[in-house]
Amino acid sequence: MKISQTFSQNISFRLFILVIATGFITAVCAPQENVNPADLVVLNGHILTVDDHFSEAQAVAIRDGIFVAVGGNSDVEPYIGAGTRVIDADGHTIVPGLFESHNHFTSAVRRELRTGRPFQQLGSIAEIQKYLREQTEQTPEGEWILLPRVDVTRIAEGRIPNSAELDEAAPNHPAVFNWQYADRQIQILNSAALEAAGITANTPVPEGGSIPIGDDGHPTGRLENSGELVNRFLQRETFTEEEYRDGLVRMMNNYHKVGITSIHDAGTNDSDYRTLYSMKENGRLSARVTLTMRMRGLDGTVQGTEEAIRGFNLEYGEGDDRLKVGPLKFRLDGGILYGTAFMREPFGDRALEFYGLDDAEYRGTPFYTPEEVENIIATGHRMGWQMSSHVTGDAGVDRILDAIEAVNARFDEPVQRYKVIHGYFAHEDTAERVARLGAGIDTQPAWYYLDGDALLEPLGEDRVARFMGLQTWLDGGAKVTINSDHMQGFDPNTSLNPYNPFLTMYVAVARRTTGGQVIGPENRVSRENALRMMTIDAAWFDYDENKRGSIEVGKLGDLAILTDNLMSVDEEAIKDILSIVTIVDGDIVYECEDNRLTMQ
Ligand SMILES: [Zn+2]
Repeated sequence: MKISQTFSQNISFRLFILVIATGFITAVCAPQENVNPADLVVLNGHILTVDDHFSEAQAVAIRDGIFVAVGGNSDVEPYIGAGTRVIDADGHTIVPGLFESHNHFTSAVRRELRTGRPFQQLGSIAEIQKYLREQTEQTPEGEWILLPRVDVTRIAEGRIPNSAELDEAAPNHPAVFNWQYADRQIQILNSAALEAAGITANTPVPEGGSIPIGDDGHPTGRLENSGELVNRFLQRETFTEEEYRDGLVRMMNNYHKVGITSIHDAGTNDSDYRTLYSMKENGRLSARVTLTMRMRGLDGTVQGTEEAIRGFNLEYGEGDDRLKVGPLKFRLDGGILYGTAFMREPFGDRALEFYGLDDAEYRGTPFYTPEEVENIIATGHRMGWQMSSHVTGDAGVDRILDAIEAVNARFDEPVQRYKVIHGYFAHEDTAERVARLGAGIDTQPAWYYLDGDALLEPLGEDRVARFMGLQTWLDGGAKVTINSDHMQGFDPNTSLNPYNPFLTMYVAVARRTTGGQVIGPENRVSRENALRMMTIDAAWFDYDENKRGSIEVGKLGDLAILTDNLMSVDEEAIKDILSIVTIVDGDIVYECEDNRLTMQ
């Protein structure tokens, strides 16, 4: 008995060894059934594939930049070959590479280089003064200091600083606070700046501008649309082409730290395309980039629009999966932080002081008539371009949708996937119309987070409840992508505007302002939908939903392994999630410093 038992144990043991050996050989040397080994395999993940069923998976394999297997560990292990890099995700959540579907990647870097000082989001007049004091210590006396842009909604006191407050912090340096958007500019000069620029009560007022005079008979320090009097003193630092390209690389690396793999620069031209194209050729473009061509100075005619488009010397869709030309863009109205959005209802009494307006019936000013909007959209459409517009107010969105309908009546092919950029006030009727016209909304939850509290008093609760009304858009069937409109700075949370995608998703889900208020709780969306808006639905706007935005076989191999479980982490902690490893095209483009994952 003893002998046979030993014998049988021995056989089992040998079989066991054989299985192990076979498995090992199969995995390392010769993939089963003609499976070519992958370049990269990730095992033991909690993968949110963001496919149609929002399926979860455990492992993926990427070969030549494409997902070739998605499933359980056992489905993917056969793709491990001698040269395959294997990451053990140790149960961490993995998402498709995130989209920053509307930012100002190129100009954010240029602005930062030009100011020569890292951007800081200043939140109160005390902080503005503190910043100014620090700058006076580092700046030779007499040299001008330009404060970083701060929108009034982001200043605790709900107003911009006055000249005396700048004097307190900078008695001997000319200092300027600049608050500018589109066609409205307000500058606050301290006494030293007024003196250095030679501005007195007798200075001729530039056309369309104003230089208010105080009770003492002297200028108050406030200039409206009179920038020409001081701009020449605000000459900024220059930078070299090399510094610019290094800055773009640094910016992309910072995007990768928070899981971003695709970016859509919403305000570029042919020169930006050439710069990025040459970086791509040199292997320095680690993110996928789509460019929106901004048409400047349009006169609203067919001919003027044609000329603007031809001036780019590019075709819609030109490029490849790394860099491509996206839609055209024009601006229909101003902004809601400036009281210049084109609204259905007047801004009203409560908004007068806040925005510095003098007419309670004011509804903002559209830059183009209905006929001009139709001219612009029809021309771009006829010339084969996807179209988009900056349009913040609800009446502005109506005007765009009216024009799309008018254009559709004239052409066999309807306008498709029109990008309604900002579209800040969601109404049920607009949502249905956007869906019916196959258009979509490109909007920025972090603005609700930062500006919602300040806008509540001037705009009223009903309007703020509709501000970034994400669920209203979804209920109407409209496609939505959420993003940051990042404009300056390198930091994900303190830039203008914060581009941390987990902050964006947190606000979409929790709809809590910085002050802790939930205004319009009916507009909260699920975590699943928030993630869709930053992945697959963002890809839709680039006509790339069959290529990117989800982890499915055949799609581009972009993903991020996260520090926390996006689906179950405490709601407040969503905004603190980071990427451990970010992958573009199967290449690791970012790995956090204290990465403890096993990577072979
Ligand atoms: Zn923008």
